Amino acid sequence: NRRIVLASRPSGAPTAADFRLEETAVPVPEEGQVLLRAEWLSLDPYMRGRMSDAPSYAPSVDIGAVMTGGAVSRVVASRHADFHEGDMVMAYTGWQEYAVSDGSGATRLPAGFDHPSHALGVLGMPGYTAYSGLIDIGQPRAGETVVVAAATGAVGSLVGQIAKIKGCRVIGVAGGAQKCEYAVKELGFDACIDHRSADFSAQLKAACPKGIDIYFENVGGAVFDAVVPLLNVHARIPVCGLIAHYNGGRIESDASALLRRVLTHRIQIQGFIIFDYYVNRPELLAAFNHDVSGWLKEGRLRYREDVVQGLENAPQAFIGMLEGKNFGKLVVKLD
Ligand code: NDP
Repeated sequence: NRRIVLASRPSGAPTAADFRLEETAVPVPEEGQVLLRAEWLSLDPYMRGRMSDAPSYAPSVDIGAVMTGGAVSRVVASRHADFHEGDMVMAYTGWQEYAVSDGSGATRLPAGFDHPSHALGVLGMPGYTAYSGLIDIGQPRAGETVVVAAATGAVGSLVGQIAKIKGCRVIGVAGGAQKCEYAVKELGFDACIDHRSADFSAQLKAACPKGIDIYFENVGGAVFDAVVPLLNVHARIPVCGLIAHYNGGRIESDASALLRRVLTHRIQIQGFIIFDYYVNRPELLAAFNHDVSGWLKEGRLRYREDVVQGLENAPQAFIGMLEGKNFGKLVVKLD
């Protein structure tokens, strides 16, 4: 059983030395447990927080412990009444090949679920994050202008496409010409601005002649600073992520200028952690599953994965994601 453990806590950007590949015995399921063999592992920005021991909404990974992560696995042995050999399940089993589970927190993929890895992305946690943040907090109305950064990623690509379905004008923000072209040509956004261009703020302003009604916050940093002066009266900001700061980049925004804008423009800023929506909003989860799987089947949503082969390549891929090297939802296909 190969697994990747946290070797040390990074300061700043993680490096390969912060991870260690280990080999252990394959665990043996006891009565009431199943043995899972991972086929797909999800790599997500929140894992950077788990590598740190700073207080957060979730406990950190201990040094020497397996890195946290969601995976889609096959049941290879079952001593549990509700699971059968061959079932595919999604569970937070971490960066490893084999794990035992008592079934709690494991979700069986329904029969006929075409692409198992989608349970880690568009039909899983990032998808529900996009849906709940945009629909519940953003409250999009036709004709409004929506801005979303990390626009080609797992969350951002869905936020923008759902906003288009709701009749909004959508401006993406992404790193580089290739991602921006994809956002417009494939995802159907009205425009997409490269946050690395020297005149980013001016380009964003030109792309939002009627201001911004919803800013779906995924990154923070310079993108947020450029957004603030463009926010309209009654604008909404679902605060989903601040990836520009996860490696310790300073938050230098002028808080008093922001609060002035919040007051004069009656702006709503609402942070959210998707875990709460899983626990508290089953009806919204059902609506998400219904709507997004339907839109996918109808061809109204595009979904792009960035597939990395082999567990041993997970650390490098994860490090790259925090620098924007992934193009689409980052998943690892286990050998
Ligand atoms: P993505 O697939 O979007 O990958 C991360 C992307 O972030 C990179 O590809 C890069 O895109 C962008 N990025 C990285 N650094 C910067 C930077 N300094 N400035 C601007 N953009 C940057 O990841 P996800 O879709 O999984 O996650 C997107 C956001 O959603 C993250 O902030 C994540 O933490 C958050 N999230 C929050 C949840 C919640 O419960 N609140 C749940 C799930 C996700 P580019 O090259 O285009 O800049």
